[in-house]
Amino acid sequence: MNILALTLNQLVRIFETDYGKGRFHARALYREIFKHGNTVPFKAPEFAVSGALARSLEQALVLAPGKVVDIFEEGDLTKFITRLSDGRKIESVIVPMNRYNTLCVSTQVGCRMGCTFCETGRMGLKRHLAVHEITGQLFNARYTLKKPVKNIVFMGMGEPLDNFEFVMAAVHIMNEQQGFDIALRHMTLSTAGLVPGIEKLAKQNLPGIRLAVSINAPDNETRSRLMPVNRAWPLETLKTALSRFPLPHKGTFLFEYILIKGVNDSPAHAEQLAAFIHPLPVRLNLIPCNPVPGLGFESPSDEQMNQFSQHLVKQGIFVIRRWSKGRSVSAGCGQLGRSR
Ligand code: SF4
Repeated sequence: MNILALTLNQLVRIFETDYGKGRFHARALYREIFKHGNTVPFKAPEFAVSGALARSLEQALVLAPGKVVDIFEEGDLTKFITRLSDGRKIESVIVPMNRYNTLCVSTQVGCRMGCTFCETGRMGLKRHLAVHEITGQLFNARYTLKKPVKNIVFMGMGEPLDNFEFVMAAVHIMNEQQGFDIALRHMTLSTAGLVPGIEKLAKQNLPGIRLAVSINAPDNETRSRLMPVNRAWPLETLKTALSRFPLPHKGTFLFEYILIKGVNDSPAHAEQLAAFIHPLPVRLNLIPCNPVPGLGFESPSDEQMNQFSQHLVKQGIFVIRRWSKGRSVSAGCGQLGRSR
């Protein structure tokens, strides 16, 4: 019984079929583990007069979030490395935002999207993460590192929509009110533009979940060079999929644009980007490139960031400028994967 891979209803069904018990005991176990991070949950009062049940559950229970083997800090940002049961390592980042933390989770070991500016892309895909390995990152952030996490962004190692079923299962578990209780509107799924995944996501009943899209270039030639996924699903196809995506009332997409010196940072790129965005409702995150040794890309200057941003603002685009946090611990955008 791999508990971190179960919603409460799934656990109730196991209790009913395997143990002849129901919601009362299942809820107690779920609460102890997911709400309190209690690794000895059978001391809860609900099990006080059910010693035999507690003993057989104890045998069956698997609580395997992975072992946190390294922690790096830069200011109030924390990157932690988890070793999985097969010895592979993944990275997660905790970013303080206003009153609570945002946890950036990984969904794969490596990634097959091959974005040329990205360290994880350079690894290639080693394997998908299992459901409990995705939710285990939240368990470890909250209960091993004791960070109050209220927001989840699926922007760590991997392309979340390439591991669709397991990521959806993790979303439901993280959203479970009797457990982790992360609201859907506090979750963001990020994609490099995997159109079939966007179309599948559009059919899920996940009201309020945010979709972020890495754009990074406004023309197919540059984008295909930076992001090979664009060869299969070019910008026009991506835009059509987004225009059909069921956004909530007043909802917006989050577009991410990593500004790379001399590659996608000219005034003409800004004009084209604004034209691509219209009329989609978009908030654009403008992020300076985090140089990864050996990949040959450079950061723009502050001045270039300002100019690019101003061009977009003049065209009516809502721009958020992000100063890449976590560079010194390789926790910035595109830098995850060096601890393997
Ligand atoms: S940027 Fe994202 S999608 Fe692209 S290679 Fe890196 S992890 Fe994969």
